[in-house]
Amino acid sequence: MYDIRGLNEECGVFGIWNHPNAAELTYMALHSLQHRGQEGAGIVCSNGENLFGARGMGLLPDAISQVQLDSLRGYRSAIGHVRYATTGASELSNVQPFLFKHSKGDLGLAHNGNLTNARQIRHALEEEGAIFQTSSDSEVLGHLLFKAKSPSFKSNLKAALNQIKGAFAYLVLQKDSLTATLDSHGVRPLMLGKVDGAYCVASESCALMAIGAEYIRDVEPGEILTFNDAGMEEDNYALETKHRMCSMEYVYFARPDSEFRHHSIYNVRKALGEQLAKEMNIDADIVIGVPDSSLQAAKGFSSYSGIPNEQGLLKNRYVGRTFITPDQKMRERAVRMKHAPIRDVVEGKRVIVIDDSIVRGTTSKYIVKALRSAGAKEVHMGISSPPLKHPCYYGIDVSTHAELIAAYQTVEEIRQEIEVDSLTYLSVEGMHGVYKQFESKGECDACFTGNYPIEIVDHLLPEEKEKKTKGV
Ligand code: SF4
Repeated sequence: MYDIRGLNEECGVFGIWNHPNAAELTYMALHSLQHRGQEGAGIVCSNGENLFGARGMGLLPDAISQVQLDSLRGYRSAIGHVRYATTGASELSNVQPFLFKHSKGDLGLAHNGNLTNARQIRHALEEEGAIFQTSSDSEVLGHLLFKAKSPSFKSNLKAALNQIKGAFAYLVLQKDSLTATLDSHGVRPLMLGKVDGAYCVASESCALMAIGAEYIRDVEPGEILTFNDAGMEEDNYALETKHRMCSMEYVYFARPDSEFRHHSIYNVRKALGEQLAKEMNIDADIVIGVPDSSLQAAKGFSSYSGIPNEQGLLKNRYVGRTFITPDQKMRERAVRMKHAPIRDVVEGKRVIVIDDSIVRGTTSKYIVKALRSAGAKEVHMGISSPPLKHPCYYGIDVSTHAELIAAYQTVEEIRQEIEVDSLTYLSVEGMHGVYKQFESKGECDACFTGNYPIEIVDHLLPEEKEKKTKGV
């Protein structure tokens, strides 16, 4: 399996407490989060005594059938998950939510993000006799919770959360409560909402809007929200917290109609385009965006520079991502199927094309080639984020330097490689400056700078180091 784009969203989660249509609303919310994961989906519901679940591979309608959804109707609380495999194999056993059946009571678990010490903890737990059912990092929290001795679930949860490291938005469903919690750096988004008097949480506010819920606020780093029949209880587990929201959520992953801190991603991307225009001193006849995620940045670029914004590229929405083989020629064909230039728009023009990022360079090279063959006189490229140079260990599937062209080539070398007249990336400072305008309290920029805000324990394990030195 190979994606021509090279960057994939991590996962999406949704949870709701005490609503008569909990399963149906969860299904609808997951539809709105489908862009965050297309490999599998699932729902776990509570009837107040036990938990029941349905899950499957593929897009939501393939993963959960009408019959399965009907079987969950009437349960009043639910959690749901859409998955893109960032750790663990792409197979049904890894599709979430996980449902643990235990003498202490059933427990449903949904996780967005990636733990950076999961292998270390798993190894220790296995030494003590634990048997894992999946190869996913997410299962670790379930084992830590069942192993804990305190009669208080909250104490056990706090102790477990203080053992795990990494990026996580976790939802835990039990017969008498739903718990939502975010890692102490708030790397992944999690939003609190309310619909018909029932509390709900979602990875993005677009899922809240989809079910007619009011978007109340963003869940804070280190926060624990517990929903039960007494209402909502706010607490936290971490002594020290920092705000390190993933920069790429703003640039590329989140849906443009979603809001972080009540500011739309649409407006943030427009502002990234404006900032890029300030930093990119090139004259041209038109500016175009690579659909879909770069259209807003192109709009912003145009409004600052005064260069007219046109639709010069068309996206074929029906090109699947899974059938592409890892072969350069086939990848190029796949990109050609995905983006088509509009000759009348670009012919004879000096074109600035805006994209949100360059991963391997395959897509960019094709786009430049296609614009030239459609008659563009000059092609300049502006990237609305800094060069992607480092792997992400917090839930995005770029896991090696070798996958990133900017990790081993200079901007000038990349320019030559993709055969563009000029290439300008947004500066790291420019990007952070934009986020500040939208009340962001701090972002992770590790894939641009290599400054990882959370320790990467598993990748420092001796066997990993050994593998790396042997070039495995
Ligand atoms: S390393 Fe990059 S992609 Fe990963 S969380 Fe940080 S900003 Fe996001």
